[in-house]
This record gives sequence, structure tokens and C-alpha cells, in this order.
Amino acid sequence: MSGLRAAVVGGGIIGTAVARHLACHHGADVTLLEKEDHVGAHQTGHNSGVVHAGLYYEPGSLKATLCRRGVDLLQEFVTQHDIAYDECGKVVVALEEAEVGRLEAIHARAVANGVPDVAMVDADGLRALEPHAVGVRALHSPHTAIVDYPAMTRALADELVAAGGSLRLGQAVTTLDERGTGVRVGTALEEAEFDVVIVCGGLQSDRLAALLGEPRDPRIVPFFGDYFLVPERQRSLVRGMVYPVPDPRYPFLGVHLTPRVDGALMLGPNAFLSLGRESYRPRRVVPRDVLDAVGFAGFWRFAAGNVAAAVRESRTAVSPRRFVAEAQRYVPELDGVGVTRGPRGVRAQAMDSSGRLVDDFVITGTDRVVLVRNAPSPGATSALAIAEHVVAEALGRRSGSR
Ligand SMILES: Cc1cc2nc3c(=O)[nH]c(=O)nc-3n(C[C@H](O)[C@H](O)[C@H](O)COP(=O)(O)OP(=O)(O)OC[C@H]3O[C@@H](n4cnc5c(N)ncnc54)[C@H](O)[C@@H]3O)c2cc1C
Repeated sequence: MSGLRAAVVGGGIIGTAVARHLACHHGADVTLLEKEDHVGAHQTGHNSGVVHAGLYYEPGSLKATLCRRGVDLLQEFVTQHDIAYDECGKVVVALEEAEVGRLEAIHARAVANGVPDVAMVDADGLRALEPHAVGVRALHSPHTAIVDYPAMTRALADELVAAGGSLRLGQAVTTLDERGTGVRVGTALEEAEFDVVIVCGGLQSDRLAALLGEPRDPRIVPFFGDYFLVPERQRSLVRGMVYPVPDPRYPFLGVHLTPRVDGALMLGPNAFLSLGRESYRPRRVVPRDVLDAVGFAGFWRFAAGNVAAAVRESRTAVSPRRFVAEAQRYVPELDGVGVTRGPRGVRAQAMDSSGRLVDDFVITGTDRVVLVRNAPSPGATSALAIAEHVVAEALGRRSGSR
């Protein structure tokens, strides 16, 4: 042991990866505190399961660099731990000429980000890759993959414990108090002092920052994403993932067709304001979460600038038929018969007071505390690289403060 006492708050894939990195690579004495009764309970356990290759992100951004590094580390980890992983590839499809310029811009970004083997294909090339998909052009990313993120998170937690770390489930952190000598972390059951604390609270990250006396903004505004499941008889309509060309004004990728490692085929997710940060059923409203969103001036500025997108997304939110219709534009043989409602996920999307959705990962902190304040997609893909990055940041801040 290095003698460093570290606490990590939040047992999603990022917090668990951070805790395991501190214990396994730095010999720290680590306590991981998670409020739920298992790791990966929120975003980590409710996402598309895609290992993004790094197509979309601004070159040089944290997303671009940590996604590429994250893919390499993830591949090594899942191979070592025999976790389900399938490099089924992905096509991003332009339905009309008007979208081709945007698709070419994504191609240029992918090349700049060092994504291997990406290529533009025409309608025939698309048909050769995905015989049931239609479009005028497509960007093919053969190494985009799917994985079991909850299994990966459990394996990270097992490594943490094997390295002597402590995993405290069912322990919500309620106080964070930084003093000259350390940081006191409190739950309803106990309070203890640590040399460094790393907070990876996902949907609660702005509230956890406020516990420490840090600014509430950027604020977390929760956007849910519903998935629908295609019946078995139509699962073979796609070989890999089929995505639309994303709307550049919006950080979400649009309803896509994604195979899962268990053999299911999902449609989704859409994106609409969630009435609860951790609500996975349509009618479950959490008044505190709603008040937080509607009482935030940035939210109204965002809403005013995104009326068209909100109307489009609200159609898919209320009508499964409209949802399936979105996917049918790319795979017309999808008949919608027997499509069933699948899981819902809620994205922790940071928004600034001007109503701008913060695109890149945001990592801030004080002398002894590092806060992961915005880690949306490709956060799961990048988790092992985010862990390296924030641990280096935490150790650097601490040595700078001594
Ligand atoms: C619908 C959807 C689709 C997505 N698709 C993909 C994808 O295909 N590929 C990809 O790479 N990324 C995807 N993402 C993003 C990815 O899921 C996230 O980037 C990633 O899971 C973030 O991990 P995390 O650990 O920060 O957050 P979470 O998994 O949300 O974990 C945060 C944890 O903190 C805990 N916590 C909060 N407050 C406290 C407290 N006070 N005390 C103790 N514990 C606390 C929570 O209980 C939770 O377990 C998607 C996200 C969503 C929602």
C-alpha cells in the first residue's frame, strides 16, 4: 500500500474504474461508496452497450482522446476477463444528399481522431454491408463494438476488492468537507477522513459538487432515452449497428438500431426531458428533480432554442408507432409487429446557465477532491481512460498543494 487513503463516490463504471485504478496501479487504500445495493445501477446499467470508436468528437477534446485510449484499455480488460464483446461494426447512414456534407464532416473527424479503417461507401456499398438498410451514402466503422457494461463494472469491482479495496454498497454520501489535512466524507452510517476524494456521481454530480461548496453549474438536466425490442424473427435484418446522421445542434445521436451482446436487437434511444433523474418508468415523477430543472434559467433558454427537436422527440416519446417509424426509414423491412417496450435510460447531461448542453467531459476540483461533472456518452467506452486521467489529476493536485 502507498499509504494514500482515497475515497471514490459513485459505483457506476467510471467510479468503479477509478477506484480499481487507484488500488491496483497506485497501491492506495481505497473505499468506494455507492448508494445503491449494486454497482452500475444507473447510467452504466441503462445504456446502448456500444463501444464507440471515436467518430463524432472534436479532435483534441477529452472525448476524442479518452474514447480512443478507452477502447484500447477496454479491449484488453474484456479479453482478460472473458466479458461478452462483439465487434459487429456500424454504419452511419445518409438518407438524402442533403445529409452527405455532414456525414463527410464526421468522416474527417473520425480520421483526425485516429479511428481505424473508417470508410465512406455508396448505396451499393451500404447494401453489401447491411443488405436491408437503405441510404444514399454511409460511413462504415468496422471496429465499433458492443459489450456488456454491467458485467465489466462488476469485474472492475471484483478487482478492487481483490486488491484490498473496500466496496460499501447502500451508502449514500451526504457530506463532503475539505479541511487542511484531508476530506471528511459522511454517510448516514459513518464519517471518515481521506487524503483524496474522487466524485463520480453521474446524475447527482451537480448536487455532490454543491455539498463541497462548489458551484451548482453546470447543472445536470436529465434526458431519458427509451428503447424498444425487435422480435426474434426480425433480428437478422441487421448485422451490426445502423445509425442516422446526427443533428449537429443536439448532442444525442438519434434513434438507431443496435444489437446487444445477449442477441437482442434494440431500437432507440430517443431523448426527452425526464421527470426524475433516476426514474425508469414513464409515470414516475420526482418533484425535486422536476423543480430543479424548471427552476434553472438555462433550461428555459435551451427549451426556447430547441422547439423543433423537442416536438420531434415528443412524438417518439408518446407513440411507439412513431418510434418504430424512425427506425424504418433506415431499414424499411422492419414491420413493427411484435415490437415491445424495452428498458429506459436517463442521461446525466450537463447544461450551463446560457442553456448550452456541455459537449465535452468536464473534470474539475479542489486541492484534494476531483469532481467528474459531465461524463455523457462515450463515457462508458472511455471509463478506463477517464480513470487514468482523473487519478493523475487527483495525485497532481495533491502534490501541488503540499
Ligand atoms: C440512454 C443512454 C445510452 C448511452 N449509450 C452509451 C453507449 O452506447 N456507449 C457509451 O460509451 N456510453 C453510453 N452512455 C453513457 C454512459 O452510460 C455513461 O457515460 C456512463 O455510464 C457514466 O458512468 P458514471 O459512472 O459516471 O455514471 P453512473 O453509471 O450513472 O454512476 C453514478 C453512480 O453514482 C452513484 N451516486 C450518486 N450519488 C451518490 C451519493 N450521494 N452517494 C453514493 N453514490 C452516489 C449512483 O447511484 C450511480 O451508481 C449512454 C447513457 C445513456 C443514459
